[in-house]
Amino acid sequence: MENFDVIVIGGGPAGLSAAISAAQVGMKTVVIERGDYPGTKNVMGGILYTKATDMVVPEFWKEAPLERPIIEQRIAMLNGDESIMAAYRDPAWASEPYNAHSILRVKFDRWLALQAEKAGVMIITETLVENLLYKGDNVVGVRTGRAEGDLGAKVVILAEGVNNFLAVKAGLAKPLKAESVAITVKEIIALPKETIEDRFCLDEGQGATIELYGDSTAGMMGVGFIYTNKDSISIGVGAILAPLIHNNWTPNDLLEYLKSKPYVKRLLHGGETKEYLSHLIPEGGYTQVPKLHRQGLLVVGDTAMLMNSLNREGSNLAMISGKIAGEVAAESIKADDVSDQAMMVYETRLRDSFVLKDLHHYRHMGKFFENNPHLLRAYPKIFSNAVKLYLTADGTPKKERQKEIMKMVLQNRSIGGLTKDIYGAWRALL
Ligand SMILES: Cc1cc2nc3c(=O)[nH]c(=O)nc-3n(C[C@H](O)[C@H](O)[C@H](O)COP(=O)(O)OP(=O)(O)OC[C@H]3O[C@@H](n4cnc5c(N)ncnc54)[C@H](O)[C@@H]3O)c2cc1C
Repeated sequence: MENFDVIVIGGGPAGLSAAISAAQVGMKTVVIERGDYPGTKNVMGGILYTKATDMVVPEFWKEAPLERPIIEQRIAMLNGDESIMAAYRDPAWASEPYNAHSILRVKFDRWLALQAEKAGVMIITETLVENLLYKGDNVVGVRTGRAEGDLGAKVVILAEGVNNFLAVKAGLAKPLKAESVAITVKEIIALPKETIEDRFCLDEGQGATIELYGDSTAGMMGVGFIYTNKDSISIGVGAILAPLIHNNWTPNDLLEYLKSKPYVKRLLHGGETKEYLSHLIPEGGYTQVPKLHRQGLLVVGDTAMLMNSLNREGSNLAMISGKIAGEVAAESIKADDVSDQAMMVYETRLRDSFVLKDLHHYRHMGKFFENNPHLLRAYPKIFSNAVKLYLTADGTPKKERQKEIMKMVLQNRSIGGLTKDIYGAWRALL
């Protein structure tokens, strides 16, 4: 059996970041990836955040296959064929130090794997890890699907993504529930560069994002998105699995529903679908974060439910958790102590970082929306009707119009209901 210092299961952003940080301090490290190459199995919207990526590969933007630097972020609230929009634009985000870029994972993960190899990591592809190997309670390696496929390690880092089969087998996580994952579908639609820049009012090379709330998911808890790539647009939509099943919708129904909205249709007009992808997103939040360590084992990225959906952040949480795990693995190996106590340092550092601080901050949010499904149906309608009345110039005196707006609001939600919703949102989000 070949032995390594660190075995990383999964070649996504979490696993590759873990491998890079362990190899950089001299650990004999291997990444085992079930896909033909890192990236083939992976799906993301996808917006990549500069700060976290820079901490793993300094000045990555000089070489990495990035699509467009994001200079504008829009939020759209849909109600039937109507839409309300808010946007923030900063052209300074088109240059260093940047804030975020759009990427296509199939290209980016492959590049990140190359950086891992440059740091000395061995990458084994087309290989599924089927089990962890134990000596007593201690994780001491992995069993792969290959003949004579057992590999030994002082520390194993579990970065298998949202499908947490091995974390469940290791007794650290519970099987996924339909209430705590979102199913997401995405299409990549080719359009000429100039058309994209015209439609999104961008200078050459710049990028924009649109997050679509309200009726984008037909009132189910979720969100739609449109991101600009170099010569394509990524459009997708995700919703919590439980209401989707309950309402008897397929994920594709959801995407077609979003694409039929007038605001969306216009942006995609004339484009040609190049790819169609689907993936789960862990939405359990802080309360569903599994046990993050045991003797000889650390859990990172989506496997650890490290996803902040409100801010559309997942890749950065994955990369930072991976980086910290790689560092802790290396320190523990050098100190010749991979006990559960030594592995716990990983969790302590994660708690000190934005990763667990942000998840803890939003810990009530999931339950708040789950317990108040009316929010996603009532408010887009209320806001849209209020703005429409306010902007309609039909000779109605403005004082009467304001009364009309108040009446419409109260017809849709009582004063008691409004107070309860505002208080609930304040408790969940602040
Ligand atoms: C549609 C969608 C849109 C998103 N948009 C954004 C966004 O815009 N910005 C953002 O920051 N985040 C976004 N996210 C979240 C982000 O993609 C994830 O948080 C991130 O990819 C997690 O990285 P990971 O390395 O933990 O998991 P993954 O990227 O899923 O990688 C896991 C890897 O492990 C491999 N693997 C699994 N099991 C085994 C096994 N047993 N043996 C060997 N290999 C195995 C898989 O093949 C895969 O390569 C989005 C997610 C989705 C689905």
